[in-house]
Amino acid sequence: MKLCELGEFELIKRIKARVGHGSGILRGIGDDAAQLEIEPGFQLLTSTDLLIEKSHFDFAWTLPEDLGYKAVAVNLSDIAAMGGTPRYLYLGLACPGSAEVERIEAFMDGALELAENHGVILVGGDTCSSPGPWVISVTVEGVVPAGRAIGRDGAQPGDVILVSGTLGDSALGLSLLRQGGVVEEALAMRHHRPQARVELGQALAETGCVTAMIDISDGTVSDLGHILQASGAAGILDVPKLPLSDAFATALRNRPDLVELALAGGEDYELLFTTAEEDLAVILAVGKQLGIPLTPIGKIRSGEPVLYLRDASGHEKSCLAHGFDHFSPTSGSGAS
Ligand code: ADP
Ligand code: MG
Repeated sequence: MKLCELGEFELIKRIKARVGHGSGILRGIGDDAAQLEIEPGFQLLTSTDLLIEKSHFDFAWTLPEDLGYKAVAVNLSDIAAMGGTPRYLYLGLACPGSAEVERIEAFMDGALELAENHGVILVGGDTCSSPGPWVISVTVEGVVPAGRAIGRDGAQPGDVILVSGTLGDSALGLSLLRQGGVVEEALAMRHHRPQARVELGQALAETGCVTAMIDISDGTVSDLGHILQASGAAGILDVPKLPLSDAFATALRNRPDLVELALAGGEDYELLFTTAEEDLAVILAVGKQLGIPLTPIGKIRSGEPVLYLRDASGHEKSCLAHGFDHFSPTSGSGAS
């Protein structure tokens, strides 16, 4: 069945029927606005991401259920990067009237699967017809104990720069998917179903030892650049220390230029953060406890917000000499 045959209100009814109830929801889908209760002593975190067909995703190599999953994951990742707990979700959906309802429902399957995994409830949204591409807007609200949220602006000279997980897998997966060949499942899934590091973000915030944090959406160099800009400090990144998956390392052996994807490919949705040297042991213990690799990859320095890349021979190169843009992928997926 096509969306124009089902109609907007019937679609909203179907969506509402699939949504559970959660604590703090006084009114969810069905009124003019969601009405929610926030516990005393907590602050609200809100983040929105837009996804546009052909710009951010393409149904030629993306299943609708993966798209729904990812649309939610990238938002949860923003809350994770502040050290918060995601609670509520809003979904803006514009599709052409010719869109198959089955495709929209598959999209909802993926979105609601991940939301449920994290105890996040869909409490509102908007539904419109689009004259052309699908446009998806996801907003997430989360909570954080007052004063606990971690911004991008607290990095201090001498701090260690760390990153969770491995880098470059999503960008490598996407480039292989675009070529249309067989893509190793682990790489394809890093692109289609990124894992928001929610538990890690909370645990890191709880230590009180993280000085700045961001999630990697645009790419390691670019997102580290945001921390440097916001903190008013310089940074040095040891390129040989970038954590790589086995699949990525194997590909890199034949194509050394792929290191660019670990530096600038984007959509890793790992957490990139800084901590004082003396707190490093506390931070590494958090990673061990959660079974998530945390790798020191560089240091914050005093000075203008310039990022230096250090290669295996110890040679340093300033990124600003080429501009951060030099490292952004020309064939990127338009990471949010
Ligand atoms: P209004 O005209 O006041 O904007 P709508 O008819 O657009 O109301 O929406 C009715 C209810 O359905 C609202 O609670 C709205 O938040 C919810 N809603 C609409 N579209 C979606 C969607 N795609 N996902 C979740 N909730 C939605
Ligand atoms: Mg509306």
